[in-house]
Amino acid sequence: MTRISPRHPRYASLKVRARLARAARSGLVVPEGLIAQGRGEAFDYLLGERSTPSARRAARIAAASIRAAERPVLSVNGNVAALAAPEIARLLRALPNLRVEVNLFHRTEARVRAVARHLSRAGIDPVLGLHPTARLAHLPSDRARIDADGIARADLCVIPLEDGDRAEALHRAGKRVIAIDLNPFSRTAQRADLAVVDELSRALRNITRAAGSRPTALGPVRPSVFLHEARAAIRRRLPSGPPRTRRSRRAVRPPR
Ligand code: ATP
Repeated sequence: MTRISPRHPRYASLKVRARLARAARSGLVVPEGLIAQGRGEAFDYLLGERSTPSARRAARIAAASIRAAERPVLSVNGNVAALAAPEIARLLRALPNLRVEVNLFHRTEARVRAVARHLSRAGIDPVLGLHPTARLAHLPSDRARIDADGIARADLCVIPLEDGDRAEALHRAGKRVIAIDLNPFSRTAQRADLAVVDELSRALRNITRAAGSRPTALGPVRPSVFLHEARAAIRRRLPSGPPRTRRSRRAVRPPR
């Protein structure tokens, strides 16, 4: 395995890639999950690879909403488990009313067990979703299968790295939905009641920190505010003209 130097400018992201590649080899993550990570990385690059003030504010609202919910559930897929099991364990210590349910797009019983085992090793107990007997309406795939004791009864669902169809189905089932998604243009982020537009581990750490500190008055916020702010943050980082390289500053001579 290639050793990544801590001095490499992309050290953090390369470490995450290596972790996900390992998780893919062990079957925890599917190849499609690696592509989803690539889409997330692209947006993280554009957002500056840090939590924006807007994402931090969204994380504070997420913490307050989870705390106030009666039966909140965090939905976990293979990527989420591989990327952030320890962060989820810390979040659960800060918000003990939150429960965890495995939900996989590419579902096999072996993968569900592998994800649950990975979460248990990080100290997460119980893990719901191993024997789902209920179904989400308006969702044809295996993703509709939910735990009768978990998402089926939840009033609030936290859905990191989710796809738009399931976000829509949860919304139609009357659940409040908090998305964690780096893409402010995704259907999931647009469908959610609250979108934390941030990298998963950073978002979970911010929510955990907010849950552990004294709540501040936040006031009502329209969900679209966080999407607008994330898009504005991306726009600010994009240069307005053509790229200025040494070569582009030189006059281009027409060929003779
Ligand atoms: P939608 O159906 O909502 O438009 P999509 O088709 O892009 O979404 P997926 O391909 O399932 O959905 O991708 C999951 C989402 O997770 C993507 O929007 C991607 O930007 C985001 N994502 C991937 N990795 C991370 C990460 N580490 N942290 C936060 N978000 C991530």
